[in-house]
Amino acid sequence: MSNQNDDEDVGDAMRALQREYLREAPARLAELRKDLIAFRGGEPDALESLRQRFHRLAGSGGSYGFPRVTEIARAMEQRILGSPTPTPQEADLFEEALTDLKSAFDEASTDLGVPMEAGKMPGFGWRATLLMGEGPFRKELVRTLGEVGFVVSVHAEEVDPWSVAHTERPDLVVIGTDIPGDPLALARYWSAATPDRPRAVVLADQLERYDKLRTAAAGIDAVFGPSTLPWGLTNYAKALAQIGSPPAKVVIVEDDPAQAQLVATWLGQINARVSICGSAAVAQEALRNETPDLVLLDIDLPDVDGYALARLMRQDPRLALVPIVFITARQTVADEMEGLRAGGDDFLTKPLDRGHLLQIVLTRTERGRRIRELVHRDGLTGVLNHATLMAELEHAIAYASRHGEPLCFMMLDLDHFKRVNDTYGHLVGDQVLRHAARVFREGIRGSDMIGRYGGEEFGIILRRCPPANGKVIAEKLRSMLAETPMRSAGGPEIAMRVSLGVAAFPGSGTTSTEVAAAADLALYRAKSNGRDRVEMA
Ligand code: GH3
Ligand code: MG
Ligand code: MG
Ligand code: MG
Repeated sequence: MSNQNDDEDVGDAMRALQREYLREAPARLAELRKDLIAFRGGEPDALESLRQRFHRLAGSGGSYGFPRVTEIARAMEQRILGSPTPTPQEADLFEEALTDLKSAFDEASTDLGVPMEAGKMPGFGWRATLLMGEGPFRKELVRTLGEVGFVVSVHAEEVDPWSVAHTERPDLVVIGTDIPGDPLALARYWSAATPDRPRAVVLADQLERYDKLRTAAAGIDAVFGPSTLPWGLTNYAKALAQIGSPPAKVVIVEDDPAQAQLVATWLGQINARVSICGSAAVAQEALRNETPDLVLLDIDLPDVDGYALARLMRQDPRLALVPIVFITARQTVADEMEGLRAGGDDFLTKPLDRGHLLQIVLTRTERGRRIRELVHRDGLTGVLNHATLMAELEHAIAYASRHGEPLCFMMLDLDHFKRVNDTYGHLVGDQVLRHAARVFREGIRGSDMIGRYGGEEFGIILRRCPPANGKVIAEKLRSMLAETPMRSAGGPEIAMRVSLGVAAFPGSGTTSTEVAAAADLALYRAKSNGRDRVEMA
């Protein structure tokens, strides 16, 4: 025992336990998720197992000092106890609880400084399999992939990588070019177009032995050479987990209940969240409240035909990019052309082939998410772009107003940024912007949102945050940036300062426009008062 006072030791010990608990959180969530899949698949014991897991989580959340975890888990346990014969809607509720638990763990991790920044806890036990020679390089990759949250498996030295069984589907397969035999042939085996194909099959080509065209022909999704290993691959894996982690949300518009149920059961096998709508009108209502990842659309519906619903979706900017797959008993080319004109992406005829349908859903969902990332993010810094940030602010204020919660919005403007461009050139200026975005991102919670407001200006939405806390966080970001100069290999070390204006909801305004204008005005005062400071609206 040290001779520090006991309270401090107890506090340290508690924090160590909390950190340990949080490190195990992804595994706990993965167990819950497995049960949920089993429950959706109709397995008789699944519900009881879910109940027990929620029960344990409610208890442990309390003992480790995470009341929100307890609150969410207890609500679900009581729900199960209260309705012994649950409906499919119940599964959606559990799904939501899992999402809430994940964000509760995320928030706690940020608060405790556990290195697990936003999105760094990939969806529920993402798995990577490494098929490569043993050695320091593989060890390094196991470490970096582990750091971004993957459960990594490697084969023992005496095991031939060709014999690693394709039993449990990993999300990521990494093939090294140092294996015996032809790595591209092994890649072809793993990337074969089956519904349980890993999300990504990548090649770690340390010696740059293979040309891109040949690897693409072998079905490989990405190739990493000596200059991008291991971090390029690790960032790729992290992005993969972030884009793919929430389960696909699929709306089925189908008036035949048996057909709809069959498709829903198949989709359950790829862990999708399904809502079934029996008519175009019901679907229209459902689409008002949620933006799915994909719509499976029957053409013959009791009210209007599926084409009409497709046209309607394409007129709404929010739904314009959602993939639409037509499902029908009709088979003519003319019908298919009409479907394409109405805005459909694919056309499947009954009787449906399970594998074909699941592959289309997986592929379209994943690509749709990538496209949405491109549409919503700033290409330079990776944070939200202006339009998305402002839409999120509006959304966050509406939510805060309904729930009677406070919120802060801050605007940040780098001081004398023009000098960086003038002194070092625009490419270094770009690097500084990326650096600043990263520093700010690290200083806020996973549930907060950061966007690029314009040039060298950023905006941050702090949810459930009273003005006093907003000021503290602004001060923290200001000093974090000042204390973290940008260092680049061989380049200059550049220290930046930032001025911040903080506005609060509801104190500074009740609409997003008012709140943003108040933050802007406060920022202007910070600049006029000498820069490198925080002003409150
Ligand atoms: P102040 O302290 O008053 O904020 O001064 P400042 O130099 O930071 O502000 P000013 O508005 O005079 O200059 C902003 C500069 O940011 C001018 C513009 O060329 C530069 N800028 C805007 N977008 C980008 C970008 O994407 N990359 C780079 N490198 N520079 C950018
Ligand atoms: Mg029909
Ligand atoms: Mg500016
Ligand atoms: Mg500036």
